[in-house]
Amino acid sequence: MGSLSDMTDISIPYAQCITSRILNTMCNKLRLHSTSSGTIPRWTPGSTLTCGIEHQSFLRAHYSIDDIEHVKGCLKEVISLLNSFNLGLRFVYVEDLLPETFTLAYANDPDSYATSFFPDAAPGRRKIVLHESSFLPLYRASIFNILCHEFGHTLGMRHWDAGWTEPNYPSICFPPDSNNKLSVMGIYKHPETLRFHPEDIEWLREFYSRKNGSMIQGCTIKDYPSRP
Ligand SMILES: [Zn+2]
Repeated sequence: MGSLSDMTDISIPYAQCITSRILNTMCNKLRLHSTSSGTIPRWTPGSTLTCGIEHQSFLRAHYSIDDIEHVKGCLKEVISLLNSFNLGLRFVYVEDLLPETFTLAYANDPDSYATSFFPDAAPGRRKIVLHESSFLPLYRASIFNILCHEFGHTLGMRHWDAGWTEPNYPSICFPPDSNNKLSVMGIYKHPETLRFHPEDIEWLREFYSRKNGSMIQGCTIKDYPSRP
């Protein structure tokens, strides 16, 4: 599993393709990120969330314009998908990055496909980072799926099995007794299998419809504005 030493960095591990083993379990719950202070961070409902690309990070690593255009196309596709979920959030692609923009950047890290952040990340740390593995021929066509997973983190979701694989970092099941191996937050799959499950969408919509300050399993939903 990728580094959890920094709570804003969550990685998809280098996947072993054992999809057949995990696809026979039904998805029915969400696992939400929570904090040691007992909050569940969430973007303030009604927020507009801008997303863009740090072109220079890809060019410095000698990726081509074609690669960047591919990444941009995937990002726009994910944005369109997220907007179709009607979560009460509006995602917008921007060419000119603002301080609060969710940026997509590149950095070397041989151990995972990508890293992401949670809704309590401060402006300037709202960065999804793609690593070299995502551009390998076997995985390049799955960058859209990898981004779906990473945006799952940005919405407040943790890996479906975080309760026992990441026990030192709080998370809660919503509703209780989570068992959502078919979630986009499922792991140990070829990334092409990472897709939002209808129940991911249903429970995200429910999560984002709750009032700021309301409780889920003893933790308090805490809204974070998209702008400083
Ligand atoms: Zn992840």
